[in-house]
Amino acid sequence: MLHELPVLDDGDRAPRGDEAPARGAKRPLEETPQNFALDHDPARSEADVLTDAFGREHTYLRIALVERCNLRCHYCMPADGLDWTPDEGLLSDDEILRLARLFAGGGVEKIRLTGGEPLLRPGVAALAERIGVVDGVETLAMTTNGLLLPKNLDALAEAGIGKLNISLDTLRADRFEEMTRRPGFSLVMEAIDAAIDNGYRPKINCVVMRDTNDDEVIDFVRFTQDRPVEVRFIEYMPFGGNGWQDDRLVPFRELRGRVRKAFPRLEACEDGPHATARTYRVPGFAGRVGFIASMTAPFCEGCNRLRLTADGHLKVCLFGQKEVSLRDPLRAGASDDELREIVSRAVGGKKARHAGMYNIADRKNRPMIAIGG
Ligand code: SAM
Ligand code: SF4
Repeated sequence: MLHELPVLDDGDRAPRGDEAPARGAKRPLEETPQNFALDHDPARSEADVLTDAFGREHTYLRIALVERCNLRCHYCMPADGLDWTPDEGLLSDDEILRLARLFAGGGVEKIRLTGGEPLLRPGVAALAERIGVVDGVETLAMTTNGLLLPKNLDALAEAGIGKLNISLDTLRADRFEEMTRRPGFSLVMEAIDAAIDNGYRPKINCVVMRDTNDDEVIDFVRFTQDRPVEVRFIEYMPFGGNGWQDDRLVPFRELRGRVRKAFPRLEACEDGPHATARTYRVPGFAGRVGFIASMTAPFCEGCNRLRLTADGHLKVCLFGQKEVSLRDPLRAGASDDELREIVSRAVGGKKARHAGMYNIADRKNRPMIAIGG
């Protein structure tokens, strides 16, 4: 069965809408309907463990190592705190390893370690090293807020972490403290420099929020002038307890319009089929910038990602409410075949696309800190 959606202009080809709304004129946010058609195979075989009913192969697994964090970013961590899963409810190293092997056996080639703050997990480098040598894992990556990175960097590099994303939403120390409810700006800057000195080309994850940090976008582009980094402007997304307000979201087209205005020679780069970011560079700059438009121009068509939460639940879509525990059957003695069957059913139930940004905002989901971004 072919699922057809109306074909609309792709934002990259049609810069229409690149302007900011006129001052004071609040206009509803628009989402680009996803103009892809995927063949739906109702007879999908459960033997295709990581291929969904739309033929998407899932080769990328994000594993949250912890729920806790040493920052308290407003957009991620609920203001009232969280009922943390007790330690015994979190996957142990051996359980993570077993699941990593299972997924790699099914075709996962890339694993990203995240959280919460992954560097808070005791023995994180040793665990990373064990995951990195699992058969089939070609790329091991980590997303971190950077606070603990300088002192862990050598061990992580030795453990095989080949790619680093470091989160930084502001280039101003006072604002950093407002946005994260903790000090630490200079440590993150140090982490970025240390990563570059160690041969990484880190991606800098920057969640852009209107009237919070959107006035720094041009500064962030300049940040790429001498640094081989990719600053990725991420649209603010709704998650449980994050005080979502749609007027704080700055659509990527508006943001890109502002960047183009300041840097008219901005050029589009080539992006891969599973890319979440649309990337651009200013000629002569060492780094580049990317826009992750999860809300206004989502990228479900090429989605190859699965998520394993720190308490052992599999999420096949970041915005989906559905999740299934792998921890419980694993602890109840399930065989690999039985676990594969559970995974296969979850992957088989993955929807073609997420429900649209207004629906997502109305749905119950975990706080981001407990999903693993
Ligand atoms: N603690 C690590 C860090 O901050 O990099 C890893 C976990 S964090 C949940 C992963 C990424 O999710 C971060 O880059 C963060 O900025 C992003 N994130 C969290 N909440 C978000 C939201 N509401 N909208 C968009 N991105 C979000
Ligand atoms: Fe912590 Fe990362 Fe969430 Fe910020 S975004 S509260 S650093 S997990």
